[in-house]
Amino acid sequence: MPIQSLNPATGKLLRSFDALLPDALEARLTLAADAAVTYPHESLEQRAFWMRRLATLLEDDLEELALTMTLEMGKTLISARLEVQKCAACCRYYAENASHILMRENIATEHEQSYVRYEPLGVVLAVMPWNFPLWQVFRFLAPALMAGNVGLLKHASNVPQCALAIEALVRRAGFPRGVFQTLLIESRHVEQVLADERVSAVTVTGSEAAGRAIAAQAGWLIKKSVLELGGSDPFIVMPSADFEVAVANAVKARCINNGQSCIAAKRFLIHDEMYNRFEDAFAVLMESLRIGDPQKSDTDIGPLANQQIVEDLLAQVESARAAGGLVLTGGERMLGDGCFFEPTVISNVPRNAPVCKEETFGPLALLFRVSSIDDAIQLANDTPFGLGASAWTRDEGEQRRFLEELKTGSVFLNTPVASDPRLPFGGIKHSGYGRELSADGMREFLNTKTVVVAAVRPEPPPRLTIFEEPLVTETTEISEAVLPDITEAAAPLPPGTPPAHAIAPTLIPRNPEGELKREVTPEGTSIYGLARRDK
Ligand code: NAP
Repeated sequence: MPIQSLNPATGKLLRSFDALLPDALEARLTLAADAAVTYPHESLEQRAFWMRRLATLLEDDLEELALTMTLEMGKTLISARLEVQKCAACCRYYAENASHILMRENIATEHEQSYVRYEPLGVVLAVMPWNFPLWQVFRFLAPALMAGNVGLLKHASNVPQCALAIEALVRRAGFPRGVFQTLLIESRHVEQVLADERVSAVTVTGSEAAGRAIAAQAGWLIKKSVLELGGSDPFIVMPSADFEVAVANAVKARCINNGQSCIAAKRFLIHDEMYNRFEDAFAVLMESLRIGDPQKSDTDIGPLANQQIVEDLLAQVESARAAGGLVLTGGERMLGDGCFFEPTVISNVPRNAPVCKEETFGPLALLFRVSSIDDAIQLANDTPFGLGASAWTRDEGEQRRFLEELKTGSVFLNTPVASDPRLPFGGIKHSGYGRELSADGMREFLNTKTVVVAAVRPEPPPRLTIFEEPLVTETTEISEAVLPDITEAAAPLPPGTPPAHAIAPTLIPRNPEGELKREVTPEGTSIYGLARRDK
């Protein structure tokens, strides 16, 4: 089946690509495996040089790359430009910090030396989603390549142009052939690639279903996996919060990337004291968002990435309504050929309704009234997911409780959840496991090798055994440097023999049992001996 690039704003076909045939896939796997042997020998300085060049190329091609993303999956051009810049920053972060992150760690033990060294695992398969077509890939690519790993990208089928553009950028930056390749394959072929013995590990960013399937296989194969899956992040507002700032950020946090972000706020938990005020203000702001052509600078929300997402959201609105929810604004598909959906706010949904346990992947917000911090924490944690959480309060006691008691991979206070190359990113529960970004992300695909070197006793000095008969006649001059050794090692010579260093000993070639040695007395008598090493 061809892999198609469709514009979700218009429904028009942009380009169509043939999926890789078996021979071409095999050639790419071979290339990756070969690169995994040679690429780790490139110095860190060299890798950093290429990585910085990659950052520069991203900036040089910013407009073209941003437009490709907007056309393929509908994000606004403004946010697409920021995404390209963030990728460049990520490349520079790892170019600057890799040597520090990969540095050998000495650990004091009773041994002469004990330390940890980090080594790349080899070929890592990256199965990636379309929602941040560049950023999701770069946050894998930059640390992996700096660490000496080799990447194979299976990108989402609806962003093939982005996938090919990334591969081309990496090559132009100077990285050797095979270090990073895009595989234009359908998701049903991921299993075959992962099963290939030349592939060492897999990272998946995507839905719970995809993560579950791939991780199950990776577990069976005993290959390392990292999962970055869905989320249903709470956005908690307490009475001491700056109301205006909180409500404005609530809209941003819900609608970032047209609402299609794993860390977009999805459930809004508002304290009773300001619930009514918040509900009104939030619904008005959501309704006022401008929806339309993502290329226009005054558009707030573009189309969703495909019609399936619109269908899924419509089904969730229906499910919320059926459970007793009130649709305060939105809730409908917008007319036209594009995949547009109205920003939607729903209140009054019972906490045990199925929709409350699902991820709403689009501009659909669920509002909940909470009576206390205990209630807020309980509801926030009452979800299968555990990605991020944002809590708004000036009260230090409340802040501490949120930090300690929210069961998520990150907690952001008085600011929306966001990813940053300097900070670990990832979740718990059904949001996945493992981390991306920062030092933690880089170390996911490294062998943490423990090295212990025990102290050894110094080699014993040679001991001289005297032979009565000469064993060999061929001799070699002994150097000045080893004279003292021979002196100390020599067994007692016949009475009256001067010390060895005074009699110019001569070394005779090696013998399996030790070194044959001849000493000549002042009278011209030869004494032969075997200088042995004590066991
Ligand atoms: P998706 O349908 O799971 O697709 C993600 C990737 O997995 C695509 O490349 C897809 O290929 C592939 N895939 C899907 N099912 C597969 C299977 N059974 N075996 C092998 N590969 C499979 O997810 P999406 O719709 O693109 O992305 C949205 C989801 O990603 C949301 O749940 C969102 O929360 C999550 N996400 C999480 C993070 C995070 O960091 N935690 C970040 C961004 C997005 P095809 O396109 O060919 O099907």
